[in-house]
Amino acid sequence: RAKAGGKACYAIFDQQMHASAVSRLQLETDLRRAIERQEFLVYYQPIISLQHDTLTGFEALIRWQHPQQGLVPPARFIPIAEETGLIVPIGEWILEQAAQQLKIWQTQYRNYESLKMSVNLSSKQLRDASLLGTIDRILSKTEIDNNALKVEITESILMENVQVAADVLIALRERNIEICLDDFGTGYSSLSYLHRFPVNTLKIDRSFVMRMRPNDENSEIVRAIVSLAHILGMEIIAEGIETELQLAQLKWIGCEQGQGYFFAKPLATSEVEALLKNPHYWANL
Ligand code: C2E
Ligand code: MG
Ligand code: MG
Ligand code: MG
Repeated sequence: RAKAGGKACYAIFDQQMHASAVSRLQLETDLRRAIERQEFLVYYQPIISLQHDTLTGFEALIRWQHPQQGLVPPARFIPIAEETGLIVPIGEWILEQAAQQLKIWQTQYRNYESLKMSVNLSSKQLRDASLLGTIDRILSKTEIDNNALKVEITESILMENVQVAADVLIALRERNIEICLDDFGTGYSSLSYLHRFPVNTLKIDRSFVMRMRPNDENSEIVRAIVSLAHILGMEIIAEGIETELQLAQLKWIGCEQGQGYFFAKPLATSEVEALLKNPHYWANL
């Protein structure tokens, strides 16, 4: 780059940095008030048994209905919530919402008594001393079965906090809560580490599922992950299934469960209810 352009370039860069710092700060300020102002929503993405073509449960995914900016995706505010510690009350809120909602669906729709609910846990939540107490309180308040609750933890969180994570996971398993390792394959976890943690399910990251082609390397990687999981006594969920071909390959490979736009996007409560009431939808999975 020409020297003359250098200064102007920095000036633009500075401006952009400034603008993004200001908008981040604004978001942080707004985030602090979002709970009391009831701006959070929970969306629910169906999880499907690939072997039986049935609904097994949902993953709870948070959304923020910002008064000016509209729906803000979690990728934009979860990192801020993490850094500020706001993730602890927000995480408690979503756990309670999701458990309560599951109880309602289990009670309202008799065919769905054994549905499960997966909730994502962040690094700070895992290290927060009040987590187990919070979960116990929510389980007893909502009266859902302990084993209807699944928690999702990314493998990078696990590896950043090996000792703490192991202790918390053991305490969760003692309560019969299921543990799901999220975004599996994207982190740096050594496969030989995996058996040290009481993990029930591996969730293969969308990036693998997306790149799978019949008989190619990526399919072989997925196949290897599935066999590894089975050897360790774990089940597999494939995330981000978008096409019929991906679904067919995953079934063939022996993957137990899946979720993705091919089945359904994350849905608002009312949309889930429409699905639960509609036997045709499930008959045609
Ligand atoms: P995640 O836990 O891996 O969630 C799956 C993400 O993949 C969701 O994005 C979901 O909408 C998206 N997805 C599912 N199927 C498909 C598909 O077929 N195609 C494509 N392109 N995307 C698909 P979302 O809802 O934007 O959430 C992003 C991440 O934010 C989550 O990744 C999770 O790490 C985090 N997150 C969401 N809700 C919470 C929460 O309540 N607490 C915490 N701690 N983190 C959350
Ligand atoms: Mg997840
Ligand atoms: Mg995931
Ligand atoms: Mg993911």
